[in-house]
Amino acid sequence: MSSHVFDLAVIGGGVIGLAHALAAARAGKRVVVIEKDARANGASIRNFGFITVTGQERGDSWSLARRTRDVWAEVAPKAGVRVEQNGLYLTARSPEAIAVIEAFLATEMGEGCALMTADGFRQASGGLGGPDLMGALYSPRDLRVESRTAIPALAAWLEAELGVTFMTETVAFEAAPPILRTSRGTVEAGAVVVCPGDDFVTLYPERIAGFGLKKCRLSMLKLADPGLRLPGALMSDLSLTRYRGYSALPQAAALDAKLRAEQPSHFEHGVHLIAAQGSDGGLIVGDSHHYDHLPGPFAPAQAERDILDEYARATGRAPPPVLERWTGVYASSDDRTYLIDTPRPDVRLVMVTSGTGASTGFAIAERVIGDLFGL
Ligand SMILES: Cc1cc2nc3c(=O)[nH]c(=O)nc-3n(C[C@H](O)[C@H](O)[C@H](O)COP(=O)(O)OP(=O)(O)OC[C@H]3O[C@@H](n4cnc5c(N)ncnc54)[C@H](O)[C@@H]3O)c2cc1C
Repeated sequence: MSSHVFDLAVIGGGVIGLAHALAAARAGKRVVVIEKDARANGASIRNFGFITVTGQERGDSWSLARRTRDVWAEVAPKAGVRVEQNGLYLTARSPEAIAVIEAFLATEMGEGCALMTADGFRQASGGLGGPDLMGALYSPRDLRVESRTAIPALAAWLEAELGVTFMTETVAFEAAPPILRTSRGTVEAGAVVVCPGDDFVTLYPERIAGFGLKKCRLSMLKLADPGLRLPGALMSDLSLTRYRGYSALPQAAALDAKLRAEQPSHFEHGVHLIAAQGSDGGLIVGDSHHYDHLPGPFAPAQAERDILDEYARATGRAPPPVLERWTGVYASSDDRTYLIDTPRPDVRLVMVTSGTGASTGFAIAERVIGDLFGL
C-alpha cells in the first residue's frame, strides 16, 4: 500500500488524460496520471495522429481544434514529437462534392483554405488523382503526428520536464478526493479528472450511462511506402459526408444521396478515407465505423476492401501492400462531440465522444483545468 499527495489525479493516460496533466502541470499543480496499462494502448495510439481543424463541427469544436493544433505545434518539438505532415488535401470527384467545398470556403471555416484545380492537385501530389478528379480542397491548418510514438514521447516529456508522476498498470476504482483507491493502494489528491476513453464501467458508470453513449469500432491499415511523398494528409469525397464541418452544410445533402446510391457498401461500413504518411514513407489508411453497445472483435473484411477501394478511387493508384491491420474503439454520442461532467465539485469526467480527441483534447483540458482550479 503506497500513499502519495497530489493536487490533481488524472485517471487515464490517453491523449485526453495527458492533455489535462499538461494543463495542470503548467498551472503549477502536482499531478499524478493513473493508467491501467503499462502505457496508453487504446484509441490514442491507434489513431491517424491527424490533428484536424478543417472539417470539425462548426462553432465550439472548430475553435477547440484551432487551439489544440496550436498547442501540438508548440509542444511537439519540446517533447521530441515529429510533425510528420502539414496540411490537408481533400479530393473531389463530382460537381456535388465541389459544391460542398465551395460552400465550406464561403464560411468562416474556409479562411486560409482554397479549392485547387485537378491539375494543381496532380502537380502538388506527384501525379495522384483518378481520371474523374475535379479538384481538391486544400487546408494549411492541419497537422499530423505518429501517435504510436508521439503519445509515449509526450508522457515521457511530462514526467521528465514537468514533474508529472505516472502510476502505470494501476486501476483507479474509486475517486473521492482527497482519497483515491487504486489497485496499488491509496493516492491522495485534492481533485480528480477522469479520462476513461471507452471504459464506461470502472468509474462513475451511472453518470456515463446517463449520456446514452455507444462505442465505435474502426478498422485501420498500414500500407507500404507508395513511392511518393504525399503533400499532406489525404481525404476524399466520402469525408464530406462524415465530417460535420462539411456534412452539416445544406449542399452536402445532394452529395450524400449520390454517394449512398453509388457506394452503398462504403456507407454500410461507415467507410471514408484518410491517408497519412509517416517518416518511413508508410501510409496509415482508414477507416470504417461500426457502432454498438459492445463492438465485437470481428471486423468485416469488406470494410477493409472498401477503404482500399476508396484509396484507389481518390489517388488513381492501386493501393500498396498492407503491412499492418488493427482496430480501435472510441466512445460515441449522437448528440455531442465531447462531454464534461461534474459528479462531485472536485471531480470532472471528460470524454471525447466523436473520434476527435487528438484534435480537440488540449483545448478541452485547458477549459476543464481552468474551471476546476478557478484559474
Ligand atoms: C482508429 C481510430 C482513429 C482515430 N483517428 C483520429 C484522428 O486522426 N484524429 C483525432 O483527433 N482523433 C482520432 N480518433 C479519436 C481519438 O483517438 C480519441 O478521441 C482519443 O484517443 C480519446 O482519448 P482518451 O484519452 O479519452 O481515450 P483512450 O486513448 O482510450 O485512453 C483512455 C485511457 O484510460 C485508461 N483507463 C480507463 N479507465 C481507467 C481506470 N479506471 N484506471 C486507470 N486507467 C484507466 C485506459 O487504459 C486508457 O489508456 C481516432 C480513434 C480511433 C479508434
